[in-house]
Amino acid sequence: MIDYLEEYPLKEPLIFDSHAHYDDKKFEEIRDSLLENLPQHGVCGIINCGCDTESSKKALAFAEKYPYIYAAVGVHPENIGGGTVLEIEGLAKHKKCVAIGEIGLDYYWVSDNKEEQKALFEEQLLLANRLRLPVIVHDLSLIHI
Ligand SMILES: [Zn+2]
Repeated sequence: MIDYLEEYPLKEPLIFDSHAHYDDKKFEEIRDSLLENLPQHGVCGIINCGCDTESSKKALAFAEKYPYIYAAVGVHPENIGGGTVLEIEGLAKHKKCVAIGEIGLDYYWVSDNKEEQKALFEEQLLLANRLRLPVIVHDLSLIHI
């Protein structure tokens, strides 16, 4: 891990990416080399967001492997059925889980289950409050509620 404070004030800007999805398939071919090299290019931190139980586990695996990566765990509104709040609660207790996310409401891509989305969002907000964790919120096309 690079010690940025040795060079403070810095000549080059640092990047903290607060919302990433490096588990996405499009990174498959380059993921390992990309994640190994990002700190050398000024990236000092990343929060990789989960979208369901499986991707939340992947976010935690990245966080365990790379010191500069942290995880958010949650069920995204497009992934209802991809995990339970109880599963997310178990994952959220990991020491490198720093937020509940990506959670929220999406009435653009999925509009036929608004009440289900609201209930899941509320349940995960309550979980975040109980665990004293911040949330990473997805909100798309809420203007048409
Ligand atoms: Zn996202």
